[in-house]
Amino acid sequence: MIQAILLSAAGEVISRAIERIMGRHNGPQPEQMQDFFSLTRPELEEVLTQELGMPRYRADQLFRWVYHRGVCNPEQMTDIGKRDRERLRGVFSFPDLTPAHRAISSDGTRKYLFAVSSGNEEGEGDRVESVMIKQPARMTLCVSSQVGCALGCTFCQTGTMGLTRHLTEAEILTQVFGVVRDAEENFGDMFSNMVFMGMGEPFHNYDGVTRAISLLNDPHGLALAPRKITVSTAGLVPAIRRFFEEGVGANLAVSLNATTNEVRDAIMPINKRYPLEELLGTLRALQLPRRKKITIEYVLLRGVNDSEGDLQRLPKLLRGIPAKVNLIPYNFNDGLGFHPPAEDTLRRWQSELQRQGVVVTVRWSKGRDIDAACGQLVTSSTRRAKKEAARRQQQSELVSVSQRPNSGENALNKSRELEAADFF
Ligand code: SF4
Repeated sequence: MIQAILLSAAGEVISRAIERIMGRHNGPQPEQMQDFFSLTRPELEEVLTQELGMPRYRADQLFRWVYHRGVCNPEQMTDIGKRDRERLRGVFSFPDLTPAHRAISSDGTRKYLFAVSSGNEEGEGDRVESVMIKQPARMTLCVSSQVGCALGCTFCQTGTMGLTRHLTEAEILTQVFGVVRDAEENFGDMFSNMVFMGMGEPFHNYDGVTRAISLLNDPHGLALAPRKITVSTAGLVPAIRRFFEEGVGANLAVSLNATTNEVRDAIMPINKRYPLEELLGTLRALQLPRRKKITIEYVLLRGVNDSEGDLQRLPKLLRGIPAKVNLIPYNFNDGLGFHPPAEDTLRRWQSELQRQGVVVTVRWSKGRDIDAACGQLVTSSTRRAKKEAARRQQQSELVSVSQRPNSGENALNKSRELEAADFF
């Protein structure tokens, strides 16, 4: 099924690519060039053979140069003839894989900032963050799927940004290969697993994320097995069903974070659209391959979702779901009003869940000193914009508070309503 979906999407992509290529009459204009990372190998083959009259094997050569060797300049692709190299340079834009910024945590975790658009007159383009998480036995790359996020989970910094836009598959791949190149050149390491747990709700950008996964799976590209990739969702039920119906093959993680609708409504507004019964019922009905499990993420928030009642309810809620629970002590985020659980509470949750036969792990967050831990990603331009917006709002409220009580709060709520209109 995924092939059928990708094929129909491929038709559109190829037509757009061909239109761009045919539309160039006065030499290559950057905006008319086709982003190389946006084409799957079959799509690339079609463009190369149909429109450029090149042999089909050029696609394999290009994939090898770009995805295996990290060479994005056709001039350096020495097994391709000079004439074709020149034509390729005029047809495809190859991404700049250099991150705009890199920070390194004392625990070895690395956070990257990528500029995914060149910006407006004030120089504030779209920025996203990716994190290379260093663990004793493996390295995990965490990538973003959107600029900001529409879902507004109240404990998450990214949720405070609102949604600017979805990332294209090419922009998702730029993060992956930008980190890969830096890892190879400067650290001599490589990630073993990849998670869509950075900025954004991956299933809100379903097409971009699944196309990126199929590009990453390509045996002529990075050849990353689907089981090495995990997509984490806040619970977009129709997309969860579609993900399994289409056989995408990557792992699923669901951010649960509450055992009652009352609490989940308050901290994850998506729950008002897809409440616990519907979300868990959907997970229960999935036909998973034997031994495959869904990861249930549970961010422990002191005094909010970490009571003894929550602890006793959780295993009951998960009955019938092939699940493993990942407990995540909350990472403090300035200004959001939540706190990590007490150490005793965390130990109690871990041992009690184990006693009840639940597979449970604790995710000790990495990169806290560089704001790279779970739920802490927010671009610095957004931090500045938020501070500035708060300052302006405070000023306007001081001027007119008597006429317009709660105007700032209403405006914020209104904007969130608009951004989240797809869901609520
Ligand atoms: S936790 Fe995930 S879904 Fe919720 S606001 Fe943050 S990025 Fe979005």
